[in-house]
Amino acid sequence: MSNKVILVVLDGLNYQVAHDCMGYLNGLIEQHRATLYQLQCELPSMSRPLYECILTGVRPVDSGIVNNNIVRLSRHESIFSLAKSQGKVTAAAAYHWVSELYNRAPYDAVRDRMTHDETLNIQHGAFYHWDHYPDEALFLDAEYLRRTYDPDFLLIHPMNIDDMGHKHGLDSRQYRNSARGADIYLSNYLDQWLAEGYQVLVTSDHGMNNDLSHGGILPEERDVPLFVMGDQFSHVGCDVKQTELCGVVCQLLSLEHSKPMTKGLLC
Ligand SMILES: [Zn+2]
Repeated sequence: MSNKVILVVLDGLNYQVAHDCMGYLNGLIEQHRATLYQLQCELPSMSRPLYECILTGVRPVDSGIVNNNIVRLSRHESIFSLAKSQGKVTAAAAYHWVSELYNRAPYDAVRDRMTHDETLNIQHGAFYHWDHYPDEALFLDAEYLRRTYDPDFLLIHPMNIDDMGHKHGLDSRQYRNSARGADIYLSNYLDQWLAEGYQVLVTSDHGMNNDLSHGGILPEERDVPLFVMGDQFSHVGCDVKQTELCGVVCQLLSLEHSKPMTKGLLC
């Protein structure tokens, strides 16, 4: 059976802050409607390398996307390319680096910010290039794409948590409150997404440290959450790797693929 999937990547969200601050998602966990896993991000614990890791299943030292300044298309099959080539509808409301990895590089805001082109890997895109672009607006962009184009796969990728971490650090009220804000935005949409048959994953690329940065191997930089919601997930304990998220999504979408995946995560 083929499912529709929404993948939410909350940029820069540390595991413990997700665990402690996201009351709505924790409420779903208490009622056995969601499960939280802890996973360790690949290295370096940086954004662009880990977008590529999450979306292709290839770790940075193998993908060649080893820092944030490498501006080129991905050289690997991604959830987007596999889905598009197998007749699925793809969409993303995401930072412009995602457009650069899977659609066109370099990003040209006038051309690419609003993308509608069925020949591209991300057929319907609302991309942004401001780290402070409001998460509230980004979730609205994503919901507009979802309601208008009915995508099989939708990536939602807000940036404010990471932005607050770079301005105030991991141990700050601003960083934690930004995570609380994302939890509230999610609460506006999740019920309807699930009711319409989506399987939903909420994760992060990397965590944050108290030097207002990330990139290394500190637990607070590497430990990230994975919340899963939907009836195709097993909701039982298992060991999940960041490189296996791509394969899990491909499996949910019933795509032919050769990506590694966490079998225990699915029914
Ligand atoms: Zn960052």
